[in-house]
Amino acid sequence: MGPFETADSCREWKEEYELPFDVIPDGDGKIFERLTNGWVPYTILVGPDGKVALWESEFDEAGFAPAVEKLYQEPPAEGTTETGAERPADTAVPGAPAPRDAAPPPTRSFGADIVILGGGTGGLVAAHHLRRRLGARDRVTLIDRSPDHLFQSSLLWHAVGQRRADQIRRPLADLSRKSVEFINEEVVGIDTDARQVRTGSRAIGFDYLIVSLGAELRPDKVEGFDEMALNLYDIGGTAKIHAALDAFTGGSVGVLVTDMPFKCPAAPYEAALLLESFLRARGVRERAEIHIYTPEHQPMPIAGPVMGDAIEKVLRRRGIRYHPLFTFERMDPDERTIIASGGEPQQLDLLLAVPPHRAPEVVRASGLIGSSGWMHTDAHTLETEHAGIYAIGDVNNIRLANGKNLPMAGVFAHYGARVAAERIADEIEGRAPEAVFDGKGYCWLELGDGRAGFAGGDFYAEPEPAVRLYPPTRPWHWSKVAFEKWWFRHWF
Ligand SMILES: Cc1cc2nc3c(=O)[nH]c(=O)nc-3n(C[C@H](O)[C@H](O)[C@H](O)COP(=O)(O)OP(=O)(O)OC[C@H]3O[C@@H](n4cnc5c(N)ncnc54)[C@H](O)[C@@H]3O)c2cc1C
Repeated sequence: MGPFETADSCREWKEEYELPFDVIPDGDGKIFERLTNGWVPYTILVGPDGKVALWESEFDEAGFAPAVEKLYQEPPAEGTTETGAERPADTAVPGAPAPRDAAPPPTRSFGADIVILGGGTGGLVAAHHLRRRLGARDRVTLIDRSPDHLFQSSLLWHAVGQRRADQIRRPLADLSRKSVEFINEEVVGIDTDARQVRTGSRAIGFDYLIVSLGAELRPDKVEGFDEMALNLYDIGGTAKIHAALDAFTGGSVGVLVTDMPFKCPAAPYEAALLLESFLRARGVRERAEIHIYTPEHQPMPIAGPVMGDAIEKVLRRRGIRYHPLFTFERMDPDERTIIASGGEPQQLDLLLAVPPHRAPEVVRASGLIGSSGWMHTDAHTLETEHAGIYAIGDVNNIRLANGKNLPMAGVFAHYGARVAAERIADEIEGRAPEAVFDGKGYCWLELGDGRAGFAGGDFYAEPEPAVRLYPPTRPWHWSKVAFEKWWFRHWF
C-alpha cells in the first residue's frame, strides 16, 4: 500500500475485500522508492525468501496468478531466483528483495523485457509502438545519455533564430507517463550472449533489444575544428551560429561537409539557403559571399541527377557558390582556411561545418559493426544476426540495389522503428512477424523565405531509387512546420 496509507486504512481495506493475507503500509515510501520505476500502480510479488518473484506496472492477473501458484508449489532454493538461475552475489540486497535491474532476464511467463538504446527519432517511435501493442506485464525501457529528445530537423531553424532551444526538445523522463521506463545514463556495453546492456551504474537484461543510437558526431577527428568551425549538427553549435549570424557584418561564409556519410543529405543545402535568406532579411546579403563545400559530386546524389540539377539551379539563382568534389583534408584556424586534397586554401570568415560521423563508440567496442563501419541488418526485418536484436536508423547501414547506402534520415529511423516494434510485439504475442521495412521515405527541402520543396519515393526500387521531386511552394513549408508540431504533440 502506498505511503499515504496508515495501518488503520490498510486493515479496513483488508476487511472490505475479505483478503486472506496481511496488508501493511509502506510508511516512509522506502519500498516504493527502492523497488519500483517511480509510477503507480506498481505491483511486486515477494517470495518467502524475501526476493522479488514478479513485478509489474499496474496489475495483470494472468501474470501474477501462475507466479503465486509456482511460489506455493516450489519455494526457490537459497541464493537462486524463481527461474532457478543463480542471482549474482553483488546484486542481492541482504534482507530485502533485489532491485529490478539486478534480476536476470525474465521468462515469458513473467512478461518480456524490451530495452531500447537511444531516445532520438527511432528510439522514441519504437517505445511508443511497443507500449501501444504490449500489455502491462511486458516492460519497455529506454536508455539515453541525454535527458532530452531533440528534434534535429529543427536545428536549422534554430541556427537562423526561428526556434528557441526549448521549442525543439522535450524531456525523455516524460515517457514515464506512457509507462516507458527512462534511464538517463550512457550505455557503455552491449553483450549479445549474456543479453545484457551495461551503463555506468548497472547491468540491464533484455529479451529484445532495439539499437537506435544514431551516428556519433566526431568534430575531434578534425584538428582545429573547435577553433575555426561552428557545428551545424548540434544544438550548442546552432546557438553559436545564430549569434554569429546576428553579429555578421559582411565577408565569406562557408558550409562545409567534412566527411561522408552524413545524416540528412539535404541539410547542408538547406542551411546555406536559410542563411542566405537570413542575411538578405538583415540587409547584409550584398556584403556576403556564401559557399558550399562537399565531397559529393552533386547535391543529394542518392536521389538522382534530376534532384541534383534542381538544387544546383536554386543555389545558382540565390548566388550561392557550389564546390562539389571538395575532398576536405584539413583546416587552418590561424589562416582561417579550409584545404581539400590537392586544392587551393579557401579563406572563410565564418565556417559552418558538418563534422565526421562514426558509429557510436559503444557499438564499436561491443563488436557489433560490420565491414561498413556501421551495424548490419536484414534490409527488410532490420534484425541483426543476433535473434531479437534490431538496429534501426542512422546506426545501421543498408546497401541499396545501386550499390549506394540508404541515407541517414529521420524518416527511415521512424519507419524502421515501427517495423522493429511490430515484429517484436508479434513475437511476444506468439504470432509470426509480418511487418517489413520497404525503403520508402520522403523529405522536405527548406529554401528560406517561407518556402520548401518536397521529395519522396521508393529507395528500394531497382536498379535505382525512384524519387519524385515536387517544386517549392509555401504549403510545403507549412506542412514541414505542421509535422514538427505533430511530432511533439503525438509523442509527448
Ligand atoms: C541539422 C539536421 C537536420 C535534419 N533534418 C532532417 C529532415 O528534415 N528529415 C529527416 O528525415 N531527417 C533529418 N535529419 C536526420 C535525422 O535527425 C536523423 O537521421 C535521425 O534523428 C536518426 O534517428 P536515430 O534514432 O537513428 O538517431 P538519433 O535521433 O540521432 O538518436 C540517437 C540517440 O542516442 C543517444 N546516444 C548515443 N550514444 C549513446 C550512448 N552511448 N548511451 C546513451 N545514449 C546514447 C543520443 O543521445 C541520441 O538521443 C536531420 C539531422 C540534422 C542534424
